[in-house]
Amino acid sequence: MKIVDIRATTVTMPLEAPLRHSNGAHWGRFVRTIVEVETDDGLIGLGEMGGGGESAELAFRGLKSYLVGHDPFALEALRFKICNPTASLYNNRTQLHAAVEFACLDLIGQHLGVPVYQLLGGKLRDVVPFASYLFFRYADPATGEGEVRTPEQLVAHARELKAAHGFRSHKLKGGVFPPVYELECYRALAAALDGDSFRYDPNGALSVEESIHFGKAIADLRNDYYEDPTWGLNGLRRVRSMVDIPLATNTVVVNFEQLAANVLDLAVDVILLDTTFWGGIRPCLKAAGVCETFQLGVAVHSSGELGIQLATMLHLGAVLPNLTFAADAHYHHLRDDIIRGGKLAYRDGAIAVPDGPGLGVTLDREKLREYAELYRELGGYPYDRDPGRPGWYALVPNDRWADPLDAVAPKLG
Ligand SMILES: [Mg+2]
Repeated sequence: MKIVDIRATTVTMPLEAPLRHSNGAHWGRFVRTIVEVETDDGLIGLGEMGGGGESAELAFRGLKSYLVGHDPFALEALRFKICNPTASLYNNRTQLHAAVEFACLDLIGQHLGVPVYQLLGGKLRDVVPFASYLFFRYADPATGEGEVRTPEQLVAHARELKAAHGFRSHKLKGGVFPPVYELECYRALAAALDGDSFRYDPNGALSVEESIHFGKAIADLRNDYYEDPTWGLNGLRRVRSMVDIPLATNTVVVNFEQLAANVLDLAVDVILLDTTFWGGIRPCLKAAGVCETFQLGVAVHSSGELGIQLATMLHLGAVLPNLTFAADAHYHHLRDDIIRGGKLAYRDGAIAVPDGPGLGVTLDREKLREYAELYRELGGYPYDRDPGRPGWYALVPNDRWADPLDAVAPKLG
């Protein structure tokens, strides 16, 4: 089996409402690039990548000369062909490699007639549990619906999601409003959904001192972990020395150098593995092995997925022996998907691991066309800008918080 072509199509997928975060917002949509890797026996393997609101089509087109003639089974060779660590000093292709690795695993699975989890050691569970992943949201400008700004709106939104999907763990994405206000919101959530567990993630926006203050103020709650309160291993290490909650990161341990640094001088307890940030499903599995050895926790991180990337998260989650936390997914905020059969369903807070050959998902060509057209119509969006605060940008640590009394519903280009 040899690769003969690689194609990339950027799509725009509408969200229920714009999602706010510490650096700006997802402007009511995700922009994702869908990758198709074709082989000489006519199989097509699927991959997917984000890109902060921009298209990655050109970057994938540039990989064609590296990939034509390559055997998809040669996964270690693939890594060195397109992202060896010294060449990557000039041209970081880790995330591109991830999408191509997904496609190669999909091809191998289709070729052998087995699901990807079989190639990774076999599944230990049939379903992967997920957390609710709650965002502060602007109202959808078209409908005026979906705003999450007040503690009452947040609790109502969480209750709706729990009723619809069965979540028993809830993640609040913070770093938007002043910490004292987000503390009130997080505590309201914990009071309303007593018995469930919670996690707070301000994307590293707080100072070390504010992180300590916030961590002490939530220590009595049922926290899964406290995710990236501040930026950097040294800052997190100082927070960890003062707060009695396991710390987690998806920002400052995203490669093996950083994982080694964290093992040698512990700063975080739980590593959130992202199949894109780490460069593929297999690097996540290797990292999980290191974490198992040193008894660090792991979970599955979401960088904003459609069905193809979700499948990579499900196959990863299925084979991790040390997965003791619910995974994260933005998936329930999507209005639709580009895979055949529509969005995969949550049952009792979990999604079933696909059992078909390869990743177990196939492209719906009509949807791919429809959402590629929507991308051409709307273009990209600046993920690190806030449509409700023109001219604003975040500092790290931040002190330029949004005003929780401001009920603006910004227009989205
Ligand atoms: Mg995070």
